[in-house]
Amino acid sequence: MPTPHRFLAFGFAAADLLIEVGRDGRVSFALGAGEAVLGRSDASMRDQPWQSLFAPEDHAMVEALFGGLSDGARAGPVVVGVAVTAGRPPRFASLTAIRLVQNKGAISCALSRAGERSTSGLQGREAFEARAAELLVGSSEALELAFVEFSGLSRAASGVEPGQIDNLINGALRAQAYRGEAPTAVGPDRYALLHAGDEPTEALTGRIEQVLSNAGLTGVKAEAAAMPLTGVARPKQMAQALRHALNQVLENGLSRPLPGDLAQALDRAMQTTLSKAGQLGAAIRHRRFSLAYQPVVALGDGTLHHHEVLVRFGSDGSPFPTIRMAEEMDLIEPLDMAVLEETLFALQKDPKLMLAVNVSGRSLMSDDYVEGALSLLKARPWARGRLMFELTESAAVEDLAAADRRIQSLRQAGCEVCLDDFGAGAASLAYLQQLTLDLLKIDGRYIRDLQHGGREATFVKHLVNMCGELNVRTLAEMVETPEAEDAVRRAGVHYAQGWLYGRARETPADEDSITARGRTRSGALAIRSALDR
Ligand code: C2E
Ligand code: MG
Ligand code: MG
Repeated sequence: MPTPHRFLAFGFAAADLLIEVGRDGRVSFALGAGEAVLGRSDASMRDQPWQSLFAPEDHAMVEALFGGLSDGARAGPVVVGVAVTAGRPPRFASLTAIRLVQNKGAISCALSRAGERSTSGLQGREAFEARAAELLVGSSEALELAFVEFSGLSRAASGVEPGQIDNLINGALRAQAYRGEAPTAVGPDRYALLHAGDEPTEALTGRIEQVLSNAGLTGVKAEAAAMPLTGVARPKQMAQALRHALNQVLENGLSRPLPGDLAQALDRAMQTTLSKAGQLGAAIRHRRFSLAYQPVVALGDGTLHHHEVLVRFGSDGSPFPTIRMAEEMDLIEPLDMAVLEETLFALQKDPKLMLAVNVSGRSLMSDDYVEGALSLLKARPWARGRLMFELTESAAVEDLAAADRRIQSLRQAGCEVCLDDFGAGAASLAYLQQLTLDLLKIDGRYIRDLQHGGREATFVKHLVNMCGELNVRTLAEMVETPEAEDAVRRAGVHYAQGWLYGRARETPADEDSITARGRTRSGALAIRSALDR
């Protein structure tokens, strides 16, 4: 081929290195800054297979990039890993390919140095959302979120190794993706990728089908839909809108039309959130929750001390995700208030009960909650000394002096106050220093590892001593084994709670059974330690 044609081929990009890959897959021409871009001289590339230039994990993408090119078409740029000797840091190059009619099947490539790309495999959902938002903010191009769904894949793929198919599909998708960024899976045989929004989706699916058919997977159909990524400028809102579109496709496939753009996706995301908030609000108002009771024992004599009240929504097990949602949606205060009211009912029904309710730091900081609680307590003098408040999510408390005033008003109304999950947050010590409390609950993570006698043991021992000086009693949560019980007792902890004594149940545990089980356990432990000696 005459040289002017070559330069015609390369004229399309501002590149540092130009190479031509012949029909035999070998480099037939290389000119430019080979050392700077690929770490090797131009001459050393000549006649080498193109695979020797790029990192193996990106071969499927480059193969698909070349394989999807019809005459006169251009593809990329994609960011591709450069082949480096083992142990050397990874490096990347931006690769654009064009197949000119005059070049008789040869592919002209323009390469320049590039910054990092995403992983070469599939990205997780969250990573994809965050990365897409980051790229969107930094890109001046019109981009879209494209979804590709394959049908006939399992039939076409019988007899081919599953790993090989994943590699092939991933390569085919990345070759079409903006910068060659990794796609994410949104259901079986369905993927999402970032795509430059300058061509109809049929062109995209046409090339993907071509690549799969080149690889021997015949009869696979690819269907695609895309949503322009316009209308929202803030990264957090972009990620929220992207998540909404991904969720829609995850739930309904491509059967429902996608939102018109990011702005519409964000609107719909808000509506979904509002409707969830509406449902949770209704569940709280109509008391569509129940209470579970978990026993807390006094370690001195193994007797039942009180129960912690834990809210349950339906049969879903842990309420934690709902509690988090309530905290985010400003619904935690009505929830805590509703749980408090139900707890007072339970106390009224059974005069032997002593209960602890959880109260989020956010509720404690609300005058409505504290005043509401105080007026409930005033009207129920029998609750004095039988109700305790456990302060959870104390990170939400910013004004410690104001928090302490509220805590003291609850204590004056006859309720002890306990700081929950101590040690889980970074600011725990400041709370202990500035709040006057009755009890401190040591976070379960320290207790579970306590019996191994590592740093946790030292931490707990000193914490108990410090609390002793401050006149604060201690409670260990998540005590699961007799060894853990033994360790917390030896550390001087006053109370314990955990699966060893019983899980949270619909009805409170019976006092006698707790005491009897405690006796059996201490007998067994005494025998074991006698044998150890
Ligand atoms: P928390 O107050 O620290 O409650 C202890 C959690 O640990 C409970 O989970 C309990 O079931 C679990 N647990 C108890 N013993 C063991 C054990 O031996 N091993 C293990 N692995 N886990 C144990 P649950 O019921 O899922 O509650 C999670 C969190 O939800 C609670 O943590 C509390 O922060 C919050 N929560 C529950 N009810 C309410 C409520 O009415 N209001 C507020 N604001 N928060 C609540
Ligand atoms: Mg608690
Ligand atoms: Mg806790």
